[in-house]
Amino acid sequence: MRCKPRVNEQRSISTRVRTWRKSEIPFDSFPAQCDLQRGTDRVQLLPGIAVSPGVAIGEVLVIDNEGFRIPRRFVARDAVDDELERLSQAISAVEAQIGRDRDTITAKVGAQYGAIFSAHLTLLADPKLRSELEQMVRDRHYSPEYAVSRTLRRYAKAFQSLDNPYLAERAVDLFDIEKHLLRNLTGRRRGELANLVSPVIVLAHTLTPSETANLDRRFVLGFATETGGAGSHTAIVAQGLEIPALVGIGPFLSDVSGGDVAIVDGDHGQIIVQPDEETLAHYRREREQHQTLATRLRELRDLKAQTADGQRIELLGNIEFPHEAEHCNARGSDGIGLYRTEFLYLGAETEPTEEDHYRAYASVVEQVGDRPVVIRTLDLGADKMAHLPLPSDEANPVLGLRSIRLSLRNVPLFRTQLRAVLRASALGDVRVMFPMITTVTELRQAKMVLADVMEDLDDAGIAFHRKIPVGMMVEVPAAVMLIDRFLEEVDFISIGTNDLIQYTLAVDRGNRDVASLYNPGDPAVLRLIEMAIAAANRAGKPVNMCGQMSSNAFYTMLLIGLGLRRLSATPGAIPEVKKVCRSVTVPQCEQLAGRVMALDNARDVATLVREELKKVVPELVA
Ligand code: PEP
Ligand code: MG
Repeated sequence: MRCKPRVNEQRSISTRVRTWRKSEIPFDSFPAQCDLQRGTDRVQLLPGIAVSPGVAIGEVLVIDNEGFRIPRRFVARDAVDDELERLSQAISAVEAQIGRDRDTITAKVGAQYGAIFSAHLTLLADPKLRSELEQMVRDRHYSPEYAVSRTLRRYAKAFQSLDNPYLAERAVDLFDIEKHLLRNLTGRRRGELANLVSPVIVLAHTLTPSETANLDRRFVLGFATETGGAGSHTAIVAQGLEIPALVGIGPFLSDVSGGDVAIVDGDHGQIIVQPDEETLAHYRREREQHQTLATRLRELRDLKAQTADGQRIELLGNIEFPHEAEHCNARGSDGIGLYRTEFLYLGAETEPTEEDHYRAYASVVEQVGDRPVVIRTLDLGADKMAHLPLPSDEANPVLGLRSIRLSLRNVPLFRTQLRAVLRASALGDVRVMFPMITTVTELRQAKMVLADVMEDLDDAGIAFHRKIPVGMMVEVPAAVMLIDRFLEEVDFISIGTNDLIQYTLAVDRGNRDVASLYNPGDPAVLRLIEMAIAAANRAGKPVNMCGQMSSNAFYTMLLIGLGLRRLSATPGAIPEVKKVCRSVTVPQCEQLAGRVMALDNARDVATLVREELKKVVPELVA
């Protein structure tokens, strides 16, 4: 929800208009009241939603809402005096700034509100705080940024841990002061994420799909965010990057300081901050086992995805960027089953031109050779590329003007893309696919625009494949309900479970609060999948699955049992999926599917699937 009810806003203002009594100032009284040493140094195990497997161990880089980077940095012995001076100047500047804020607010809305800032000034002027900060720089040689962050967060954390809601709220004031000082000391923001020079685990309140895509894989070992759900595009991009990742942890950043050590366990969905030696040793072993398994799976590269009884399964790759085609090739994929072209917009300041589109598509086709490349037309909107000039006042963007709806409202943009797709079709086995088709009329309109663009290219004498296969995503329950009609009008379909789950179960794929309901194994979702596969098989039309469900080897047996013979997965998942395909027989899978479809809840489905999978590929079952 973008808008909060007004009543909450008012409540938050009145809460903030409390000032600090002298006796409450923490810097003197706290050591007596609570054990500060236990503040952030304690081992913490935080559950989250695993979105990309593997284990990462390293020092953390905290990117909070304001985007500050607070590494544990030391200053050289001979620079200590200069750093102390810098700290002192920052404190003075912040004092002056807070004083100005107090005067402005007092003049605008009254002294009662200005008092908040007076309280901040009192805290900032406290000699105990100041001497503690200076001591950290002078004696421990910490940078002023790190000293500020560590000290104020410790106090804030100690306040939060008290069993007193009134005092716990006071932590906010300490975070405010921390931000003021850091803003002054660093003057740098989130952009620094792009300039990393050493390996880190990124911890952030939130990461957008574009920020995630821009993470530098040389230095980002893994990441974890407070927000987000399993089906979010941030999660999908993380899989593409092949780094362990968790989302939806909930508020935890105030407990962590830059430089702390953390483990991201992308297999079991947890992050461990400040692990003890035993935990570290355990995870180092896990990391090695991952590497060993990856090496073994790499040996499958040149083998086909074929069941033990000879059924060929077409195993394709999902990509967001042209260079990922190489990642698919490296795993021996049968082609590209989903190219999410909207990622062309990522970081683009201006609308991509026909040439931009064409160059990207041509590059993919060139890398993939004579194997198929399914280019999906723009699926913009909702959480994808939200910085674009899209409608911003939609109450429910996932139900709004996104995807094919947006393309059909912006025909020139749609035509530009289709011209490029068609031109690329002259270079190889290119297929075009429309996203989020909900009505037959919509599909017909999209095909009409395609036919129109073909005429234009004809008139201009530009080469293209006239019989380019045209497909649609099946990712809205309405499309499954009318699947027989749709199948009469397309050459192939591809099941998009990410959205299908969201729209079937009425659960926002990016919302951590309802993440436990977002489940590919829900019988309602499985029934829709079964219906779509059966209808396509009856009609003799190819059916693929390109949602994340097909990237999860856990479901491979079930999907084969439901009649699927084409799967499109993120490149990193291809070896595991192939391993399952090669370890099972079709009757084995069909038997499993038959038993699963008799169940009525996702938990029983998971238990049964795990049992069967464990029998055939125990090494893949956590
Ligand atoms: C899907 O919805 O399953 C899908 C593949 O599309 P996207 O994740 O890009 O919305
Ligand atoms: Mg989708």
